[in-house]
Amino acid sequence: MSALAVAPTAVPGAAPTLDVDLSAVAANTRLIASRTAAEVMAVVKADGFGHGGADVARTALAHGATSLGVTSIEEALALRTAGLTAPVLSWLNPVDAAYADALAGEVELAVPSREHLDAVVLAQRSGPHQRSARIHLHLDTGMARDGAEPSAWPDLCRAARRAERAGLVRVVGVMGHLGCADDPADACNALGRRRFAWGVETARGAGLRPARRHLAATAATLLDVRSHHTTVRVGAGLVGIDPTGTTLLRSGLTLTAPVVGVRRVRAGAGVGYGHSWIAPAATHLALLPLGYADGLPRAASGRAEVLLRGRRRPVVGRISMDQVVVDLGDDHAEPGDTATVLGPGAAGEPTVGDWARWADTLPHEIVTGIGPRVRRSVRPAGPAAHSSSPRLRSIP
Ligand SMILES: *Cc1c(COP(=O)(O)O)cnc(C)c1O
Repeated sequence: MSALAVAPTAVPGAAPTLDVDLSAVAANTRLIASRTAAEVMAVVKADGFGHGGADVARTALAHGATSLGVTSIEEALALRTAGLTAPVLSWLNPVDAAYADALAGEVELAVPSREHLDAVVLAQRSGPHQRSARIHLHLDTGMARDGAEPSAWPDLCRAARRAERAGLVRVVGVMGHLGCADDPADACNALGRRRFAWGVETARGAGLRPARRHLAATAATLLDVRSHHTTVRVGAGLVGIDPTGTTLLRSGLTLTAPVVGVRRVRAGAGVGYGHSWIAPAATHLALLPLGYADGLPRAASGRAEVLLRGRRRPVVGRISMDQVVVDLGDDHAEPGDTATVLGPGAAGEPTVGDWARWADTLPHEIVTGIGPRVRRSVRPAGPAAHSSSPRLRSIP
């Protein structure tokens, strides 16, 4: 610690605080692992969907996941720095990314093009790396986003096989991704599954033996056993987001904020920027010190609520960058009272899903949007339990 480090003086609850209950992540991981015979890769990109990347990684690994997945090499190396030694796959990098650092950190790399393959091979050649680069060839299975186009796939497979024979890489996996898995009836799923099967066959035809084949994320893991293959990549589900609406997962986030001030206003008082809300009658207003810079979407203005003094209360006026105003009506509150902005919902507080609805977005965007000013407080998950939990096979 530097001599300049200042000890926190605030008491708990005196600042906007995000409480992260890792026992929810543990329970969700166990439940998801019980729904598949495949291995679970815990996707902890975007700081573990805003829950703390290393915390979610450690918890998921202790409760049934066997590897980790992130987008960037930087995210993967941050997990290594945090002491995680499990296999980590990084799947989205520019061709001039820090591949040498990735190889030194034993990070597995997804390869979506010849250019990427060449960059990895070059980094492998120029470094004193202990083992050959472990790569997962990435096929676009129908999203026109990341991954090689089918027309480029056979050539990518052959080039990867040449690099493998030269001892420079080992193709340990093939990956794809489904764009419409939350709607199992969508024809794009069957197309994605077929294209993935073709991609694996083509890789085998080129002499590759990819041991890990992965296509499913949370939605396909919960709904479509045909997409599970050897490994499923699960992110949202670990933090309690079920895009399919079929499975009881737990949310571990609780966001609270203190009341900074309370005032009485007359009928006709305009609140906040643009006076988008005018008090229809005399009322009490409470001020909370968090806003869109802290992750409360401005688009939820006029719809959002918080729990304060045992009741849901409307947020009135525009959500500002740093503050929101809550209408108490005839009720009172005191500076120092704590409002629950979101939580699992057990005490009647709004949930992540409520905020997503109010802002016309996904729960994913709410949990990844909580800003850096919000203090984090982490509750550990308790002992690992996956060795004793039953692993059921393929429940559709
Ligand atoms: C984010 C992501 C995942 C995880 O998706 P969830 O729906 O959050 O489980 C899996 N694979 C890829 C390629 C991703 O980008």
